[in-house]
Amino acid sequence: MYILIYIMGTIFGSFLTLAVYRIPLKKDITHERSFCPKCNHRLEFLDLIPVFSYIFLKGKCRYCGEKIRIRYLILEILSGLIFLILYISMKFNYPFFEIDKMVYFVMLIIFYITIALIAGIDKEYRTINRGVIIFGTIIQVFYILYLCIVNNTIMYRYSIYLGLLILCLLFDKLLKTKENKSNYLLELIIFCLYINLFVDSILFIFIILTSSVILLWTKVIQKLKQNVNLKSIDFKKENLNKIGFGFYIGISTIIVLIIQNFTYYWRG
Ligand SMILES: [Zn+2]
Repeated sequence: MYILIYIMGTIFGSFLTLAVYRIPLKKDITHERSFCPKCNHRLEFLDLIPVFSYIFLKGKCRYCGEKIRIRYLILEILSGLIFLILYISMKFNYPFFEIDKMVYFVMLIIFYITIALIAGIDKEYRTINRGVIIFGTIIQVFYILYLCIVNNTIMYRYSIYLGLLILCLLFDKLLKTKENKSNYLLELIIFCLYINLFVDSILFIFIILTSSVILLWTKVIQKLKQNVNLKSIDFKKENLNKIGFGFYIGISTIIVLIIQNFTYYWRG
């Protein structure tokens, strides 16, 4: 089971790199096969196996010899690990079949996927992708409805966040059609409201705190690097400055999510 979950994670990691590249360009993410960005050769099944294909091909394109960025391999391994950690954090009791936990786990994975996508796209393009938010929100509405039916309680807190989220999305749409530009702050508010649909408000404060700490930490590292080696930072500086806050919020959400699960399920 662990191996299966890990493999699922690496497959998602491989999908993530492709989706982050294709979604903002409005390209198809499910039907069109991947291809090498250098020689445009379509990748065969063997080239698409996460982690292993990278090792077997020694990090190079099979057709033109172009180096594949190590970042892809790291992302695949990391994503596999996060799937595995999330699975372990649920503390499933074999051989019992716990339907509530299973449904929650699926939701957790979907939430993680949307957060990772939003963070990745924000890092590359400095924009919060509305399509991913809307997709995740619709899934979450179904989940809240499911919880209402099963537990027979109405989740008022979620309804408030959901209402605000829809309002902000409409406002954002209006801004875009009227002035043909989007407001990054509004995008961040939308992202924060979206996160609040899934995590506790107290944990959300932690998310804001952690992302600020990570941001500060990166800035300090950046500064230190500037002092040590001015030449290496020069071409990287622009890139680093372009990283949006949404990326940091995404990263800390994933961290907080893991901690939340462990404290909830492992303390008993
Ligand atoms: Zn190639």
